[in-house]
Order: sequence, then C-alpha cells, then structure tokens
Amino acid sequence: MVSMDTLVSLCKRRGFVFQSSEIYGGTGSCWDYGPLGVELKGNIKRVWWRDFVQRRPDMVGIDASILMHPTVWKASGHLENFTDPMVDCRECKLRFRADQVDALPWTHFCPATKGNKFTIPPGEPCGHCAARRTLCPDCGKGELTPPRQFNLMFKTFMGPVEEDAAVTYLRPETAQAMFVNFENVLQSMRLKLPFGIAQAGRSFRNEITPGNFIFRSREFEQMEIEYFVNPHDRVEDRPADEYWHDRWIADCLAWFRRYGLRDENLRLREHDRDELSHYSKRTVDIDYRFPIGWSELMGVANRTDFDLKQHAKWSGKSLSYFDEERKEHVVPYVVEPAAGVDRALLAFLADAYAEEEVRGEKRVVLRFHPELAPVKVAVLPLSRNADLSPKARDLAAALRKRWNTDFDDASAIGRRYRRQDEIGTPYCITVDFDTLEDQAVTVRDRDTMQQERVGIDALEGYLAERLGPC
Ligand SMILES: [Zn+2]
Ligand SMILES: [Zn+2]
Repeated sequence: MVSMDTLVSLCKRRGFVFQSSEIYGGTGSCWDYGPLGVELKGNIKRVWWRDFVQRRPDMVGIDASILMHPTVWKASGHLENFTDPMVDCRECKLRFRADQVDALPWTHFCPATKGNKFTIPPGEPCGHCAARRTLCPDCGKGELTPPRQFNLMFKTFMGPVEEDAAVTYLRPETAQAMFVNFENVLQSMRLKLPFGIAQAGRSFRNEITPGNFIFRSREFEQMEIEYFVNPHDRVEDRPADEYWHDRWIADCLAWFRRYGLRDENLRLREHDRDELSHYSKRTVDIDYRFPIGWSELMGVANRTDFDLKQHAKWSGKSLSYFDEERKEHVVPYVVEPAAGVDRALLAFLADAYAEEEVRGEKRVVLRFHPELAPVKVAVLPLSRNADLSPKARDLAAALRKRWNTDFDDASAIGRRYRRQDEIGTPYCITVDFDTLEDQAVTVRDRDTMQQERVGIDALEGYLAERLGPC
C-alpha cells in the first residue's frame, strides 16, 4: 500500500491538492484542490449524482444553503450532543481530545537520567524509570485540565450585529436540509414512498485533532442521501426499512468497486450497540484500507423516524406522509447513506497508485477508472516540428470538445508518457511523421502500454467506446 507521504507529495507536485494558504504557512487542516484535483473531485461527484440520482426513478436532489435556521441544530441534537471531550495543558495551553491523549507519543523528562528529554511511543512506559504519562504529551511539563465538552460546530453571526440573537452555525452535515425540506420536496415532486433526497455539498466541523491529509479536515464535502420508507411496508418479507438498509449498503459497496476500489481494501463494519446513536436502529460503515489503516469511508445508518419527528416537534409542522392505501398518516423511517467526497477521492487515489519497473526504470501510474480520470486523453506530437505540432494541436482541439484533453510537445516522448501515467490519463495519442501520410495516429493504453494504430476518422469512436459515457 502506498504511503500517505508519497500521496501528499504526488498531489502537490502534480496539482491535485495543495495546503490551504501555503504561502502564509498554511491554515490548520484545510486543503485546496488544484487543477487536477478539482477535475477528479468533480468527476467523483458527477458520477455519484448520475448513478444515484439521475439514473434512479425514486431519487431527487437538492442544493441547500449552508447557513440554516439555528433551531435546526437544536432539533437535530447537534447543539447539545455534537461535542468532543477536551483537555487543556495548563502550561503550554495546547488542547487535546481527552479520549485520544493516550494515543499520542509523549514527551518525558526522565528523572532516572538527570532529566534528559525523551519522546516515548503511545501508551508505553519510560524504558529507564518505568513512569507512565501523567502530564501534557507535547511539552511534558503541564498538568492537564479535567475534560470539558467542546462543540464542533463553527459559530458565526447572521446580519450586522454580533450578538447572541444573531448566532448561527456553518452546517456540520448536509443531512438536516433534506429533513427540513421533506414537505417541500414531497409536495412539489408528488413523490410516493419509498423515495430519497440527495445532496452534495460542504460541511464544517471544528475538529480538535484533524489530520491525515484530506481524510479529516475542518471543511469538507459530503454526498448524502436520505431515503424515506414506510415502516409499515414489507419488502421480501422483511420490514421495509431493514430491506432498504441492506440494499443501500450493497449498492454503495458495488459503486465503490465499480469505480476502482479493490475488494481486499473494502470491508463492512457493523456498529456495536453501545456505539450506536440513541436514535439509530442499525449503522454499518463501509471501511477502506487507507494508508493510515482501516478507516471509515462512508456510513449507512437506519435513523428511524427520529429526525422528522424532532423537526415536527420544534417547527410545529406535521412532517408525515399520507398512505393512500391504508388511509393513514405515517412518519417515514429514513436510511442514510453518507459519504465523504474527500475521503472517496483519497481512497480512489490510493487504490489507483502503482509503481512498476519498465525497462529498468520506475514508472508511477494512477490507474483511475476512465470516468474518474482528470484528463482523459493527451495528444503528443512525436517531436516539436513545423508539420507535426499544428496537426497535433488541431487534433487536440477537436477532442477537447468532448473530453478534457492535454497537449504536450515538450521533452522526449518517453518522459511525456510518464507524466501522463502519473496523473492517470487513460490514453495518449501520438502524432508522428506517418500520420501526415496515412491520417492515422498511435494510441497508447495507460495500463497495458500497448500501442495501436487508429485512423483519425475512427478515433473519436474508438475513445468513446473505451472512456465510457463521461
Ligand atoms: Zn503542554
Ligand atoms: Zn523515565
């Protein structure tokens, strides 16, 4: 498995991801997507939306505002419960998550060695004096305060006055907008249960210990679905919510496989009873084997009727569905497949990454699924030449109408192939001197490195067949 450092450096070097505000020393755990990153991320979101919204009769989408009515967060429980226990060092004022302090390496001034300073691995005692950590893991001097609850929502002010009445929050998840728009969507689209509402957009969490590149950052993008079912219905002899929960787990898993994640790097993890939120009937995570180890790629929760009931209570509106057959009002149950875009991107990147030896040289290649690849085609004239370059430029211009196409006529052809391999371009097209005679080009496949001669007339069809509907 590729290391995180290798990915971080490739991402910077080739314009996928930069540290935010890098010239000012960076912003804590915020990342900027560069020219290739924005394409890759856009492709992930577009394919997800196409497959889960546009190609399904039972799904619709919304794009809600990030700033919501503050009562939303009272109803959802975020104001009260979306907290992490936190401790502060009385000496250096650094802040740690209480439940993670022991997972950090710790600084120790060892009395058995005249106070020499050591950094000791997490959870281990000092090899000289056998002491265990009691002080701040970072400075090794300060006592830690008792844990206090710290709310992870970013607070801000709405309007011109900075007063308590104007306090609002940047949304910590996209899900709540689907619940508060339930009635609007239901009525305007005249939907019948079961149906789902999807949204992709930014969320914000003031994590105390973010990290691991784009895996956990304070500003991130989510792709969430709230799938509403009638809990009184039965499908295949099971309660509808349980049936649809399993269906969504299977569909999401299949989706990640289809776009390149390998079986051996994916697993399902069932939440234990004591790990479940109080309103959740069952939650299953799809874990991925990231460079940092097995971690959550997405979660699929059965949230029952908790959210709609909460918002009905706080808003005074009835958020229910009228079942025509049974002639009764019912509050739907909701199954929530919630994926992180940045995590998905990291997983696709890690799984696509390969190093191989080709004729005694190292080749780095990103084997992206063609629909995710940021650049689909590169047109490379064999050499920079008054006849070849214009011909190649015309060809690139023609292909660009349909696909994101690169043109490169600098340096040796082998080096240009390597550059395209490293950003995952599925096809390189070489225009050579024969092209001027036979109106054909050489198409090189990124993965097999096989080359094939294709007539320029047939090129678009040839590529369309292999690149898919992108
Ligand atoms: Zn300290
Ligand atoms: Zn010691």
